[in-house]
Amino acid sequence: MNCPHCQRLLYSRQHARCGYCGGLLPEDVRLADHEVAEMKAEIREIDERRAIAKEKEEREREEQRRRNQHAGWSPPIGPF
Ligand SMILES: [Zn+2]
Repeated sequence: MNCPHCQRLLYSRQHARCGYCGGLLPEDVRLADHEVAEMKAEIREIDERRAIAKEKEEREREEQRRRNQHAGWSPPIGPF
């Protein structure tokens, strides 16, 4: 979607004005309030899911490390 005033590409449709020329954007160019809200909720959900996944990964890594210690790993003894 381009700005009807300066024809430049709009990087965001959440704002009432063009970020380049400051021209007021027509209603149909902008996202509706509920669409903006939905988009934000979606972003938040993705962020949360990513945080949970990261936490899980770290916990698994920690568990793996602990398991290795419990296995009583000892350095190989060479046939000297
Ligand atoms: Zn513009």
